[in-house]
Amino acid sequence: MADNVSSLVRSRMMSAVRGRHTRPERYVRKLLHAAGFRFRLHRSDLPGSPDVTLPAYNTVVFVNGCFWHGHDCLRGRLPSSNVKFWRRKIGGNARRDAANETALKALGWKVAYVWQCQLRSDTAVLLKYLRNRRQRERSRESAR
Ligand SMILES: [Zn+2]
Repeated sequence: MADNVSSLVRSRMMSAVRGRHTRPERYVRKLLHAAGFRFRLHRSDLPGSPDVTLPAYNTVVFVNGCFWHGHDCLRGRLPSSNVKFWRRKIGGNARRDAANETALKALGWKVAYVWQCQLRSDTAVLLKYLRNRRQRERSRESAR
């Protein structure tokens, strides 16, 4: 019983960390879709279940909330009470993110981040990267 309760609490905490279908995430998906890119969501067979996976470009995207993922920005600042707790909690999240990135790269994935506080600019950078790759692949195909 105690185990059930704690796993329920744990899964709630996890969903707060990796909020799914959040507004920033929907924004990124909308733009990728409009640009004609094919992607899959929350692949649980990949480390960290990335928010967006683009198999044709071996690229995964994490859309990160600044607070939960410890971004170095105003929104990422820790609350002034319970500092120890939050430092441990957010520090643990950031370490897990880093471990997931390492594992994904070892599997041959490119890892991109879109931060909540830089939603538009990070998404623009991502789209530019993908468009360049698409362009290169198309010109390689037509050269054949
Ligand atoms: Zn931020």
